[in-house]
Amino acid sequence: MKQQEITDALRRAFEANEADFSSIEDQVRTRQATARERLTRSGWNDQGDFHCLACPCPHFLQGGHEGRCRRGSCGHSLLSHDLPR
Ligand SMILES: [Zn+2]
Ligand SMILES: [Zn+2]
Repeated sequence: MKQQEITDALRRAFEANEADFSSIEDQVRTRQATARERLTRSGWNDQGDFHCLACPCPHFLQGGHEGRCRRGSCGHSLLSHDLPR
């Protein structure tokens, strides 16, 4: 497929999209910090990274439906799992 020419309008659209996504990423990070804090306050013993923040899944398993955790008891999205710090 031929590369599409990037017009000014497209460039502005890409920039707006980038800003949107980066604000979502900020929100996700904030929510994860809040979730982590909530678990710690409730007695969660933080061991390692990538455990699920929405259930006791100890480790994100790649390969689930639509990029979700493959562990049957979890099935939460990657974003629900604590990301490596
Ligand atoms: Zn999981
Ligand atoms: Zn989970």
